[in-house]
Amino acid sequence: MKVLKFGGTSVGSVQRMKEVSKLITSDGEPKFVVLSAMSGTTNSLVEISDYLYKKNPEGANTVINQLESKYMTHIQELYSTDEWRLRTEELIKEIFTSLRNITKTLFTSFEEKVILAQGEIMSTNMVNNYMQEQGIHSILLSALDIIRTDKNAEPDFNYIREKTVAQIEANPGYEVYITQGFICRNAYGEIDNLLRGGSDYTACLLGAAIEAEEIQIWTDIDGMHNNDPRIVEGTEPVRQLYFEEAAELAYFGAKILHPTCIQPAKFAGVPVRLLNTMDPSAPGTIINNRMHRGTIKAVAAKSGITCIGIQSSRMLLASGFLRKVFEIFETYKTSIDMITTSEVGVSVTVDNLTNINAIVDELKKYGTVSVENDMCIVCVVGDLSSQNVGFETLATDALKQIPVRMISYGGSSHNISFVVAECDKQRTLRALQQTLFTYNDHVRRPS
Ligand code: ADP
Ligand code: ASP
Ligand code: MG
Repeated sequence: MKVLKFGGTSVGSVQRMKEVSKLITSDGEPKFVVLSAMSGTTNSLVEISDYLYKKNPEGANTVINQLESKYMTHIQELYSTDEWRLRTEELIKEIFTSLRNITKTLFTSFEEKVILAQGEIMSTNMVNNYMQEQGIHSILLSALDIIRTDKNAEPDFNYIREKTVAQIEANPGYEVYITQGFICRNAYGEIDNLLRGGSDYTACLLGAAIEAEEIQIWTDIDGMHNNDPRIVEGTEPVRQLYFEEAAELAYFGAKILHPTCIQPAKFAGVPVRLLNTMDPSAPGTIINNRMHRGTIKAVAAKSGITCIGIQSSRMLLASGFLRKVFEIFETYKTSIDMITTSEVGVSVTVDNLTNINAIVDELKKYGTVSVENDMCIVCVVGDLSSQNVGFETLATDALKQIPVRMISYGGSSHNISFVVAECDKQRTLRALQQTLFTYNDHVRRPS
């Protein structure tokens, strides 16, 4: 069975929901389908939560009312029979009533997560009801019963596998199994989520759990492009990526994929295909276990980075210095993205500033500490093994006009990363595009 995930824009209107339903059932093969919330809905739910955090229930209720009237219009247009129209309207109205009730109670992060979950709950119910109205043998399985995170907020894979397999076995013979992306329960049984963009993660976890033939991520663009199409003109789709390459691009900012969603697919060896709902016959990108030698594939950038430098004369020949530095970050549950070292200093990058003051205070015991905010990591991905003489030079050469704060090469053979100021991000990405993909004959294009 294949797992198909449709993102926000793919289910973003009544027309899209109808087209997606047709696409899912076109070959008659059974499928596991993961749906995001309709585009814009999760942002509205975040807005509602923000109002409630600021103790402004009137603001929250205005957004709730606007959202409800949009959904009521969608429901009128989606169904052709009063029976399904009324049935769905009742369900969605109940959800909006529950949102209004939340505005009257004490608001904590628990209520926030309940609010954020409603987008996927609504879209999956709407599409499942539409399919049933169309006579399609579909069933809605609640992600809250199959996706769980552990005490470290990481997916509990054994639980997910066990529950998913059990749910399919308990409900055999359906043409379409639908579930919500993004939402889950946490280790305490509360409603939670896999962070923004998390529907990709749900799809990859489920694909790995059922050892799917393929995981398809359907979105609004024809696959992974060789650079960020929102920033750089003339980007092109990359037809194939090795799991590690895709994982690095996702982690370092290629928004088309949730940062950690490739991991479960990679471990289970299930290929991931990125496809375009607006152009279903376009080839998209296949992510699998094949590594193409001699090719630089793509560039991505991750914003919101802070560089922390620790200069210490005591570091010279001092064994255990790096361990002490890492332990400080570990104590404050702050993961390090990039690191560069010399005999007298070390620089690291982090994207989580929750405990930055405490971390800096502790680091000061070991040397002089500097903190630079508003940085970004730019990551060049492809076959960057040392055997490819000159490949890293192509990337560094592209940046000869740009101040580079850190360079990391050799951590894996798939990546060279640079830290530059956020204000230089655009020109860095454009310079790399020109050097690596526009004029350069040395870099073979991916097939
Ligand atoms: P969905 O709602 O379907 O999950 P997203 O908005 O999360 O869609 O991801 C798709 C978007 O990712 C594209 O519209 C594109 O603007 C953006 N994007 C950023 N970097 C890349 C890239 N390297 N390749 C393709 N798309 C990218
Ligand atoms: N709806 C969620 C979001 O907007 C999850 C997703 O679309 O992947 O972040
Ligand atoms: Mg997404």
